[in-house]
Amino acid sequence: MASLIPCPHCGMRPKEEFTIRGAVPDNRPAWGTPIDDPQWFSAVYLRANPRGRLREHWYHGAGCGSWLIVERDNMSHAVYDVADARARGLAGDRT
Ligand SMILES: [Zn+2]
Repeated sequence: MASLIPCPHCGMRPKEEFTIRGAVPDNRPAWGTPIDDPQWFSAVYLRANPRGRLREHWYHGAGCGSWLIVERDNMSHAVYDVADARARGLAGDRT
C-alpha cells in the first residue's frame, strides 16, 4: 500500500513526490551566526534520528513546490498533521 501525504494545497499525494529535509526544529544555527567547523559538521551531518512521532520539513517538489510541516510516526507511518510551513512561521527556505 502506498503511503499518502495530504498536502494542504494538492490533496492526497504519494510520498514519492516529496523530499524530507529533516526534523523541526532543525539544529542549524540562525542565519549569520558565526560558528566554527565542528559546529558546522554537527549542524549538517549529525541527527538525533528518534523513532516514533515527530515533526519534519517536507518539500512537495513534484507538486505545488511548498515546504510543509508533516507530523508523523516513522514506525507506523501514520500521518497526524500536515501544514504549510509559511503559515506556521517555519518555512524551509530560510530567507
Ligand atoms: Zn502540494
